[in-house]
Amino acid sequence: MKLRKWSLIAAGLVGLVFAGTTAATAAEPGGQTTILYDAFGSDPEMTKDWGFSALVEVAGKRILFDTGNNAAIFEKNVKAKGIDLTKLDFVVLSHRHSDHMAGLSYVLSVNPAVKIYAPKEGFGIYGSSLPSAFYRKDQSLPEDMRYFDGKPPEIMQFGAAWPDAHFEPIDQTTEIAPGITLIALISDLPGTRELKELSLAVNTPDGLVLVVGCSHPGIERIVEAASAINPKINLVAGGFHLVVATDDAIAKIVAALKNKFKVENIAPGHCTGEPTFAALKEAFGVRYVHAGLGSSIALGPNASGVRRGDGPTFDDLAIYRKLASHARHQIEGRKNR
Ligand SMILES: [Zn+2]
Ligand SMILES: [Zn+2]
Repeated sequence: MKLRKWSLIAAGLVGLVFAGTTAATAAEPGGQTTILYDAFGSDPEMTKDWGFSALVEVAGKRILFDTGNNAAIFEKNVKAKGIDLTKLDFVVLSHRHSDHMAGLSYVLSVNPAVKIYAPKEGFGIYGSSLPSAFYRKDQSLPEDMRYFDGKPPEIMQFGAAWPDAHFEPIDQTTEIAPGITLIALISDLPGTRELKELSLAVNTPDGLVLVVGCSHPGIERIVEAASAINPKINLVAGGFHLVVATDDAIAKIVAALKNKFKVENIAPGHCTGEPTFAALKEAFGVRYVHAGLGSSIALGPNASGVRRGDGPTFDDLAIYRKLASHARHQIEGRKNR
């Protein structure tokens, strides 16, 4: 009896310690994000198309974020980068639009058991369930006019477009691994009202790395939610959904990212929009990271401007030199201490 009591207390303590470390944990430094699907960039081995996918290697995890617009193009781009999709920790599908999901059939053909985080949808293509209590009953009807003859299963299952895939539905912002959070938000804009979207936030010692798919709930709302995890935002990468935004709207958002949220580095892609690329490049200068198809964005203190995949332009060489001398100074500073 006494032993049982002590083991319960011990289990409680372990639980507390674990909860404490989970909440405070920042993932390991370093890592990289490789853009596998987008409609701009200069890698001749890859095919440009509208859509988004990135392999995020951070905190000892390999995370496939979105899968592009076309399974055959996605396969070609993955192979061009020599990426092994059988070695993934998990997949995140940001939202149910086909330019982010259509490559999933290729992922499943090589890695059918992989865990896939997706927004929890009532009757979505990822499959779902609801208690049968959700619908109104009418006992006065004859049996053959009643759903399930008046005896519905307690839980009603709704099918998935990929019935054998291992979907893990996410309904609210969740820390799925130490330092790795899926931010769940819902769009309230005309055209995508009630669309759910997940964004990936990885807390690193250098600040938060935020990867967004299409930002339908609004890039500002997503960054605001991310800053609640860690107000120091090291990098925002992905689609900001401003392809048709006016110059005024773009200017407001760029100012918010730079001045209000103090985003350190920006790597916009996909549906961010050409005028927004220009405005962000102007505002962020050397902290604007070219994130075209095939680029690998180094994560960590030197995220800014460092990339592989695209041939460096003259502009980039200047940035590299600046970063290299910055790194040298840091090393020398440490030696002198
Ligand atoms: Zn979308
Ligand atoms: Zn999109």
